Amino acid sequence: MAEMFYDNDADLSIIQGRSVAVIGYGSQGHAHALSLRDSGVDVRVGLRPGSKSVAKAEAEGLRVLPVAEAVEEADLIMILAPDQVQRTLYKEEIEPHLAPGDALFFAHGFNIRFGYITPPEGVDVCMVAPKGPGHLVRREYENGRGVPAIVAVEVDATGNAWPLVLSYAKAIGALRAGGIKSTFTEETETDLFGEQAVLCGGVSALIQSGFETLTEAGYQPEVAYFECLHELKLIVDLMYEGGIAKQRWSISDTAEFGDYVSGPRVIDAQVKAHMKDVLTDIQTGAFATRFIEDQDAGAPEFKRLRAEGEAHPIEATGRELRKLMSWVETRDADYTEGSVG
Ligand code: NDP
Ligand code: MG
Ligand code: MG
Repeated sequence: MAEMFYDNDADLSIIQGRSVAVIGYGSQGHAHALSLRDSGVDVRVGLRPGSKSVAKAEAEGLRVLPVAEAVEEADLIMILAPDQVQRTLYKEEIEPHLAPGDALFFAHGFNIRFGYITPPEGVDVCMVAPKGPGHLVRREYENGRGVPAIVAVEVDATGNAWPLVLSYAKAIGALRAGGIKSTFTEETETDLFGEQAVLCGGVSALIQSGFETLTEAGYQPEVAYFECLHELKLIVDLMYEGGIAKQRWSISDTAEFGDYVSGPRVIDAQVKAHMKDVLTDIQTGAFATRFIEDQDAGAPEFKRLRAEGEAHPIEATGRELRKLMSWVETRDADYTEGSVG
């Protein structure tokens, strides 16, 4: 069993005695900065001057500084800019302003695990990685609850990194739900695997293949959309509440029997072998290299894949159908704002 930490295991006064810089004010950044402030922590936000995040953070009454100045002032730096910009941002604006005794915090281990960031000696390297999108992290905090987080220490330079990481996790509400002790390696590899093989990559490909199978067989795309995409939310909600068992309990016996006999025909041993290949590419760093090299080249592969995905016929069908669903909060205009870590 994983080791768990709760509010009683942490001392809030530790983080209240530090000067914190939150770098980035996106999904995670806004949640951390606002909840730290509301927990009585001295917090400033580090951003590129003039960017649209500056106005958002200032509108909430937060102090905003250029990244280098925020790091210079602070003794705990939480890096919440996108993973692909962290390496350059770190080299240019963070590393030169770090001092022994400072702490460098992350919400995902990518740059440490794959060696894109190597902090100097004397600096604690810690992780508080909420297992949910930033907007949920903030909403739960405001409601007196919390989203569970993974907590880890990569380098305990001061000997006090663990009490510090728990104090930070408590300040954003995570220990109300529970902190799960892990490592940068485990968090990074399992996070990438989960989003690639199951949550994002696996589910998206499964939906598209199901939709294609039905429409290629001559069924109407609108009907295929409902059966292969729309109803997924209802199924996932049941799993979220009570696992696969509750989902199977709630659906019809016809659906449950079909689940048992056809599920393993679709997701067969070959699919699992492919999952193991995906995991290997994560573990060896092959995925990280492909992502970062593409990003450094202006993201040609990323942009091509994104355009191909948006051009899939299921998207056009869905856009039309969602206009008919008054109860669905359709935000087709700004869906690019959201993100899942
Ligand atoms: P976002 O994409 O939401 O972060 C965008 C923010 O970073 C904006 O405020 C943006 O400001 C700022 N930013 C971008 N580039 C720079 C730069 N060069 N210098 C300074 N600021 C910059 O990130 P996420 O919140 O999604 O991810 C942050 C970290 O949290 C990642 O490590 C991610 O893996 C992790 N994580 C994310 C989760 C999520 O829910 N999204 C869940 C768990 C972990 P500007 O307005 O200037 O563009
Ligand atoms: Mg049905
Ligand atoms: Mg992730």
